[in-house]
Amino acid sequence: MTTSIHDTCFAGNRPGQSRPPAPENHSACRGWCRSCSREHSLPTGRAREQAGALFDRLTRTGTIAAPGSAAAADPRLATASLFGKARGKMFGVLECLAADGTCQWLFAFSGQYNGQWLVPGWAPPLFDPAAYQRINEPGERQVKALGSQLAALPASEPDYRKVAQARRRLSQELMVALHELYRIPNFRGEDTSLTGAVGDAAGKPTGIGDCCAPKLLGQAVARKLAPISLAEFYFGRSNRSGCRQHGCFYPPCSDKCLPLLGFMLCGAEERRNAYGG
Ligand SMILES: [Zn+2]
Ligand SMILES: [Zn+2]
Repeated sequence: MTTSIHDTCFAGNRPGQSRPPAPENHSACRGWCRSCSREHSLPTGRAREQAGALFDRLTRTGTIAAPGSAAAADPRLATASLFGKARGKMFGVLECLAADGTCQWLFAFSGQYNGQWLVPGWAPPLFDPAAYQRINEPGERQVKALGSQLAALPASEPDYRKVAQARRRLSQELMVALHELYRIPNFRGEDTSLTGAVGDAAGKPTGIGDCCAPKLLGQAVARKLAPISLAEFYFGRSNRSGCRQHGCFYPPCSDKCLPLLGFMLCGAEERRNAYGG
């Protein structure tokens, strides 16, 4: 997990102020494009300021629901859980340009929010959540059943290794089946699988495609927008390794996002120019 030296905390480094300092234009969001044989990137730009405003809103309202909406009373959307056992989460903001030259802002949280993939106002995942559930639920049940079987067996029992192997194989098969549901789009109008986007040789870590940046770029493609700038920050209790702190900016992660972003950003520059950006 890498964090660049440009990363600046906006909670705590200036007493009484939770807003980030002036935007910096380092390339936070980047990746190597195999088809263009060069890197594509987005600056942090104005998204940084908008991310600060989102941070303030989450702090003030205590919910990820739109202020004043009926969903604001939904306890599943409260931010309190981010400070508890579940720990915090990354949030991302993407500044976009529409074909008519207007600015649009897209928002995302990483992974699921309290078990939900779809929350109004937030970028959806890069797969059909209903299809995901249809595969994941029975799969997880089987993996769990083998887990309890394993817990009941003494490790010296000859069956122990067999069950352990079956469980490992089953969870690998489940991950492959779930990964096959992802559709990774780019700004050239292309659409590929996770393997197509990262290449055959690359590994696919758990959670690949579920971070803020891929979700945001996917939604920008779906809405025919051109991405301009992107910023991500962490909100809530630090992750286990401590490399994510409440109120700090981080670039998209190097293990899961970097391998995807080169493909996803392909064609973004041309579209931005076509829209007069
Ligand atoms: Zn990531
Ligand atoms: Zn390219």
